[in-house]
Amino acid sequence: MTSIFTRIVAREIPAEIVFENDRVIAFKDIAPQAPVHLLVVPKTEEYENVAQLAEGDPALLAELVATASALAAEHANGEYRLIFNSGPSAGQTVFHVHAHVLSGHITEGSLGF
Ligand code: 5GP
Repeated sequence: MTSIFTRIVAREIPAEIVFENDRVIAFKDIAPQAPVHLLVVPKTEEYENVAQLAEGDPALLAELVATASALAAEHANGEYRLIFNSGPSAGQTVFHVHAHVLSGHITEGSLGF
């Protein structure tokens, strides 16, 4: 099944894209939980969650983390909260692995959503 993030990669639905290379895309979350709320996503939808990605392609996971860090420096002060929701009861709604990058003024309410 094609994920909503694959449809963003394919430009089938619009998004405010802030970074893209051959393996990774990053864009603004449609419902931001912090002044800066970006999603950093591998272009492949092969991996559903961060544990699968870590096992299947650790270099790609490292690239997501490096991208998140660089974007937090570009869009805020370089400090950030990185969240990978894994499973519906943890708040995951899109089953195409993605990192939430929260930066700017973080309130405790943005830990879980
Ligand atoms: P999850 O709940 O799976 O950890 O995160 C999914 C995130 O994707 C949510 O924060 C939600 O706001 C965001 N999201 C869902 N659909 C879209 C969309 O069409 N465009 C963008 N930019 N973000 C989306």
